[in-house]
Amino acid sequence: MKVRAAVAYQGQDRLSLDDVELTGPAPDQILVRMVGCGLCHTDVKALGGMGVPKPAVLGHEGSGIVERVGERITKVKAGDRVVLTYDSCGACHSCRGGNPAYCVDTTPLNFTDGRSGQLGAYRKGNEEIHGHFFGQSSFSSYAIARERNTIPVRRDAPLEILGVLGCGVQTGAGAVMNSLRPEPGSSIAIFGVGPVGLSAVLGAVLRGCSPIIAVDVLPSRLEMARQLGATHAVLVSPNIETAAEIRNTVPGGVNYALDTTGRVESSQQAIAALAPKGQFGFVTIPPGGLNLNISTVMLQGLSVRGIVQGDSVPDVFIPGLIDLHLAGSLPFDGFVTRYDFAQINQAIDDQAAGKVVKPVFIF
Ligand SMILES: [Zn+2]
Ligand SMILES: [Zn+2]
Repeated sequence: MKVRAAVAYQGQDRLSLDDVELTGPAPDQILVRMVGCGLCHTDVKALGGMGVPKPAVLGHEGSGIVERVGERITKVKAGDRVVLTYDSCGACHSCRGGNPAYCVDTTPLNFTDGRSGQLGAYRKGNEEIHGHFFGQSSFSSYAIARERNTIPVRRDAPLEILGVLGCGVQTGAGAVMNSLRPEPGSSIAIFGVGPVGLSAVLGAVLRGCSPIIAVDVLPSRLEMARQLGATHAVLVSPNIETAAEIRNTVPGGVNYALDTTGRVESSQQAIAALAPKGQFGFVTIPPGGLNLNISTVMLQGLSVRGIVQGDSVPDVFIPGLIDLHLAGSLPFDGFVTRYDFAQINQAIDDQAAGKVVKPVFIF
């Protein structure tokens, strides 16, 4: 079928809106008509590489309506409303143990396996365009996914913005709710309050944390963090030490710290702000590494946790997040900005400039 897709070509930093052919679904695939798709930082990183073969259709926060299913599909049927998320194999030790974010096949299934020559790839003329990104490639009016990463959702939820639950929101909220699991009344500092960090703030509110300290370089984002439940805000500036500022608020240090920025200074300050027995979580890798003071980690009894996709089991966690949203307890729509799909490059620029927090493309 003919679809409209945003294609990433090798060596280009803009996406090209093209009419392309999409084949499938194969017997184990699901064809979804996209209604909305969020923009995640990993899309922008994948534009420049990450082992994603080019040309490719990126996009991994899709939501839409099932158009057609392959003959082996039993989980959903045409007309069902779905959120797409990361893919996993379902058979390895991690998947069977309820930890699909640590699937042994994460890299091929989500990044490097381009579905080359298979159904579910896109094509323009003779040129094949890879359609495998996070098992969905949802910057497209139609996308192909599998049962493992297709999550049926309630009909009364705002489908066009639900895709953000499939990566950014579940990463932030899940890092707090599933991974760190702070006790009610414990203190937490969240470094970086973009979409992932703001979702972490929402998760910290749900866990009953206090105080919740948001840390960022942008006053506008700190203000939004406060609106969503952060009790304190620390503006990062060259003249003050962030950890000392946090310790002014919480003498003795915080019980939990989460870094969403991927900046080495942030992780250093986050660890320096911890109380004895404190836990540090991180969801993105600083280019220079963590630069850990291993003596401090041992002598203070600290824990350091790498976290992927908020340890989410998407079939359980995403419907749960939607229930919380509809009950008014997870107002992630407060940091979503809607764009027409045709404005995709403008949205990337606006997000990079800090003008918007989380663009969602409406098809
Ligand atoms: Zn697996
Ligand atoms: Zn993502």
